[in-house]
Amino acid sequence: MFSKILVANRGEIAVRIIRACREMGIQSVAVYSEADAESLHLKLADEQVCIGPPISAKSYLNIDSIIQAAKETGAEAIHPGYGYLAEKEEFAKACADSGIVFIGPTPHNLSLAGDKIAGKKVVAAAGVPVIPSSPGGVDDIAVARLIAVDIGYPVMIKSSGGGGGRGIRVCSDEATLSEEFSIAKSEAGAAFGNSTVYLEKYIVQPRHIEFQILADRSGDVIHLGERECTIQRRYQKLIEEAPSPGLTPELRQEMGLAAIKAAKALNYFNAGTVEFLLDKNNDFYFIEINSRIQVEHPVTELTTGIDLVREQIRLAYGELLGYTYEELNIRGWAIECRINAENPAMNFMPSPGKIVSYRPPGGFGVRLDTHLYEGYELPIYYDSLIAKLITFDLTREGAIRIMRRALAEFDVSPLKTTISLYSQVMDDADFQKGNFDTSYIEKFIPDDDDDDDDDDE
Ligand code: ADP
Ligand code: ADP
Ligand code: MG
Repeated sequence: MFSKILVANRGEIAVRIIRACREMGIQSVAVYSEADAESLHLKLADEQVCIGPPISAKSYLNIDSIIQAAKETGAEAIHPGYGYLAEKEEFAKACADSGIVFIGPTPHNLSLAGDKIAGKKVVAAAGVPVIPSSPGGVDDIAVARLIAVDIGYPVMIKSSGGGGGRGIRVCSDEATLSEEFSIAKSEAGAAFGNSTVYLEKYIVQPRHIEFQILADRSGDVIHLGERECTIQRRYQKLIEEAPSPGLTPELRQEMGLAAIKAAKALNYFNAGTVEFLLDKNNDFYFIEINSRIQVEHPVTELTTGIDLVREQIRLAYGELLGYTYEELNIRGWAIECRINAENPAMNFMPSPGKIVSYRPPGGFGVRLDTHLYEGYELPIYYDSLIAKLITFDLTREGAIRIMRRALAEFDVSPLKTTISLYSQVMDDADFQKGNFDTSYIEKFIPDDDDDDDDDDE
């Protein structure tokens, strides 16, 4: 096994990975920006290296500085977490060029996952249903109009290199398409360094269902069941659960096999997630593969008992899976709330600051993944995710009951957070019945404006 791993990330996911290293007897190296000198991940790691100024482009996205830190400390492998460099082909290649193992998929996997149009083509060719879309990138508004008529309105403009729910626009008719098209292109260029956009059929009020995949060097691929990620705001996930209350056992099996087919078609290696949309007729469509550990991975860990970060490390070292889907013992129900330092009453404005009073929830069925502690001051430079609260019980009703209780215990004064919104959701009859689609959260925030692009990260 590796003897030392560098963790190229910050926040709760850096803490999560460092904990896995400690349990596996692996030394960990934390990297940090000048704004993160008081961060919890530094206190838990064996070594700490400052990699640059607060601004992410010069620290957590600085490939040279991270590779140099790995060389100086003698780390044999780098775990990138999620976001930042996790899905950058260039970074995986830079690791390989320096003789460092990148804990994640191959550079080829990353290039296909990062180019959504190319990835969809490979998956469609393998016989997995994909959403009707333009055959490739669309440059010209006249061509866009013709394709939209062919697909049928409403359509979505998506950015080929996009992610994190950004760069997505819904067009209900030709007038909106004409209006949004050039804006979408220039925004995609500015945000993702790739101005390619494409059109896709807009699936009305779908559910977002995704499957966790693990693949080893021998080409063996298994899935660990699905996650329901339908509760979203502006195409970003807020609440996730496993299993999904919207699937029958037959549909679960069919979608799981399609997920494996997609992963095999992409020659996928290590941990990944195959994302689908499910429409009102129970037809499902592949949307993308996420080639990293995901924010919502803990719900799968709780229902399978498998430590996904440990599996990523093991697989990256070259070990084989060693178990089959049939040998998994999937049981119970897990729910995760992504807690953000944002004010729901002020259009989710980020609310950083110093934590004066900190009381984390605990007790039966509660897991809290966080980098917070009393007295910690949240830097203004980074993502507003401050904690993931995950509850588990044998039944969905039980997991909801525990979540309601745990949310009520959680105190991070004086920060404004999304905790209150989640308490409302847990009390809502539709949520309790599992009766929702991706527009569900709008009823709690009626004034939310979908078209007002979210570029606050
Ligand atoms: P998940 O798919 O794991 O639920 P998200 O899609 O919300 O999580 O992305 C995880 C993190 O990565 C978020 O912090 C998000 O802002 C960031 N992220 C995802 N894609 C991109 C991208 N293309 N550019 C920049 N940040 C991204
Ligand atoms: P990202 O890379 O930003 O995660 P995705 O393609 O995974 O982008 O889509 C994010 C979310 O946007 C989905 O979970 C879904 O809610 C919505 N979405 C994406 N494509 C469609 C579509 N064709 N029809 C309806 N909703 C969609
Ligand atoms: Mg996605």
